[in-house]
Formats: sequence, C-alpha cells, structure tokens
Amino acid sequence: MKDIHTCSYYCDRPECIKAQRDDLRERLFADEAKQDAIDNILQRLESWGKAYPTDIFREITDEDRNWLHETRPGLMDRIAAGMGRHMYSQIAKDIAALVEALESK
Ligand SMILES: [Zn+2]
Repeated sequence: MKDIHTCSYYCDRPECIKAQRDDLRERLFADEAKQDAIDNILQRLESWGKAYPTDIFREITDEDRNWLHETRPGLMDRIAAGMGRHMYSQIAKDIAALVEALESK
C-alpha cells in the first residue's frame, strides 16, 4: 500500500528527514554555484578595469587630443570606437554566460 502524507520540515519520519536533508543540500549547492558564477564575472570585469593602469597608459591630455585630431583626423574616434565595441561585446558574452549558468542551476 502506498503511503500518502503531507510532509513538512516538522515531519520526523526518517525517510522524510533524509529527503529534506538532501533537498536542503541540493539548494545550498545550487546557491553556491550561482554565487560563484556571479563572483567570476565581477572579478573579470574588475580585472579589466585594472588592465590599463594610468602610470603605464597615461591619460590623454587636451594637447595630445588636439595634436592627433589635427594630424590624423578621426583616428582617435576610430580607436575609441574599436575599444568600445570590443569591451561591450565581451561584457555581453560574459553576461550571457552568467545568465546561462544561473538558469542551468
Ligand atoms: Zn514526511
């Protein structure tokens, strides 16, 4: 005969306690995996922010900018646009991977 009962965390049947323990463990690990996925993308984004330190790649001055605009019109904008496209497509890929990781857990 099949045993039918309504179970809760107050239930003390040994088989139910085991099932509840397994359920809690599963949820805990799923949450940890999600947190790891979020931490990974944040770490990556933060490391990109530090990849071009200003002591090596010094800030562009108005003088630099003006000189470049006069000698190579449009070049600065094309370099900036290329960097922007690269960065945002990488960020979009990371976010898509994160969403996939969160949905699969
Ligand atoms: Zn039960």
